[in-house]
Amino acid sequence: MAGDVAESTSVAAAGLPKIAWGKGLVLTDVDGKHYLDGSGGPAVYCLGHGNEEVNQAIKDQLDRIAHGYRYNFTSDPLEELTERVGRLCGGTLRQMVFVSGGSEAVESALKLALQYFAARGEMSRRRFISRERSWHGNTLGALALSGFRERRLSFEGALVDVPRLSPANIYRPPAGVAPEDVGAACAQELEDKILELGPDKVAAFVFEPVVGAAGGVVPAPPGYARKVREICDRHGVLMIADEVMCGAGRCGTWRALEHDGVFPDIMTVAKGLGGGYLPLGAAVYSDRVAEPINAVDGGPQTGHTFTGHTTACAAGVAVQRIVEREGLVQRVAVKGEEFKRTLADALHGIPYVGDIRGRGFFTGIEIVADRDSKEPFPAEKALFLKIRARAFANGLICYPSGGNVDGIKGDTVILAPPYNATDGELSEIAGRFAVSLRQALADIGA
Ligand code: PMP
Repeated sequence: MAGDVAESTSVAAAGLPKIAWGKGLVLTDVDGKHYLDGSGGPAVYCLGHGNEEVNQAIKDQLDRIAHGYRYNFTSDPLEELTERVGRLCGGTLRQMVFVSGGSEAVESALKLALQYFAARGEMSRRRFISRERSWHGNTLGALALSGFRERRLSFEGALVDVPRLSPANIYRPPAGVAPEDVGAACAQELEDKILELGPDKVAAFVFEPVVGAAGGVVPAPPGYARKVREICDRHGVLMIADEVMCGAGRCGTWRALEHDGVFPDIMTVAKGLGGGYLPLGAAVYSDRVAEPINAVDGGPQTGHTFTGHTTACAAGVAVQRIVEREGLVQRVAVKGEEFKRTLADALHGIPYVGDIRGRGFFTGIEIVADRDSKEPFPAEKALFLKIRARAFANGLICYPSGGNVDGIKGDTVILAPPYNATDGELSEIAGRFAVSLRQALADIGA
C-alpha cells in the first residue's frame, strides 16, 4: 500500500542539512560541513556542544533511574538544582517548579499568579498585561501574551485577550517620546492600563527584561524595571519576568533583572538552565507568592508528567556546576562588551547597520535601509532570511529574529555565543557575520 500513503513529515523544514556531531562551538553535518554556532542555536547552548562532564552526568543518572515521578519521589538532582537555582536567583526566589521548556515555564508562571490570587480570595484578578514585540512561547497561554504578530495570525480569535503595551525600546521610542524618557513613559503606560482595567482585575504584568526573539535583543531602558516594580507594588499586581532567553547568565548576571536591582515575584528561566542538553525550564517564585498557595492548596497546581524530570535536572545540575566553577557568568559580562566592540569593528563601513545592542553574550544587530530615519528595508525583501542563508553557507549559525513589521522594526539578527567561546571564535563569528551581511545586502540590491 506504500503508494497510497503520503510521505511522513516532521517539523523540520525541508532541505535542511542533517546534523551529525557537535563539539564546543563547532557543529558538523553528515556531509562533513562545519558550522560555528554563533547564536548557541536559539540562545540555548551556553556551554557549546558535546560537553563530556554534562554527558557523563546524564549517563550516570540514566544508569540509576531516568525519572522518579514527582508524586512518589524526590531525588538528589531535583534537590541540588532547587538549592542552586534558589541561591543563584537570590532574595526569596527559592520556590520553583521544573518543567520541560520555556513555554511550559510561562504557563506555570501564569497559573501560579492566578492561584495566588484565588488562594487570597481575590478571584477578580484574572487579567494579564504584556507588551508588543515580545515572545513568551508557542502554547496558547504564552502565545496570548506574545506581541509577535507574525506568529499569532493563525490563532487570533482563540487567544485570551491580553492588553499589550508599547515595547520599551530606546532605539525605536513611542511617538513623541525622547530616548531618555522611554523608561518612564512606558512604565507610566503600565500604570495607566492597570487603572483603566481596574487594579482589582489585574493579576500580573509579564515582560522580558531583555527582549529576545521578537525584538532582536532589546534591553529595558535604565530605570524602567524599577518603576514597573513600584507600580506593581502600588496596585497589588504581580511582576513576572520572563527570563527564558535572557536569563541563566546570558546577559552577564545570572538573572537578567539583577542588572536593574529588581526582584520579580515570579520568574521563568529555561534555555541556559540546561544548556540544551535535555529539555528543562523552571518557574521560580517568591516566598510571598508561595505562602497563600501552600496554605490554601498545599502547593502549586501546575504539574505535568515530566515536572522535575530526574535526568533533565541532573543535566541542569551538571551545566550549572560548570558555569559556576568556571566563573562563566562573570566572563560573559566582560567578554560581552569586548564582543560588541569586535562586532562593531567588523561591521564598520556598512552603512545599513542601525544598531548593535545587548548585554553579555546576548547581542542584537538591527539593519535598516536608512540610518537617520531608521526606515527598515521592505518586508518582501526578507533581508533577515537572506542574512541567515548567507551565514549558513559561510558556516555560521545566527538567529534571525524577523524583519520589517509595519515599519516599526528593521531586520534583526541575534548573536548569542556559548559562554565559553574563545576570543578566536568570537572574532571568527564577527568576521563571518560581516561577510554574510555584505553578501545578503548585495542579494537585495542594497
Ligand atoms: N519566553 C521567551 C522569552 C523565549 O525567548 C522563548 C523561546 N524563544 C519562550 C518563552 C518559549 O520557550 P520554548 O521555546 O522553550 O517553549
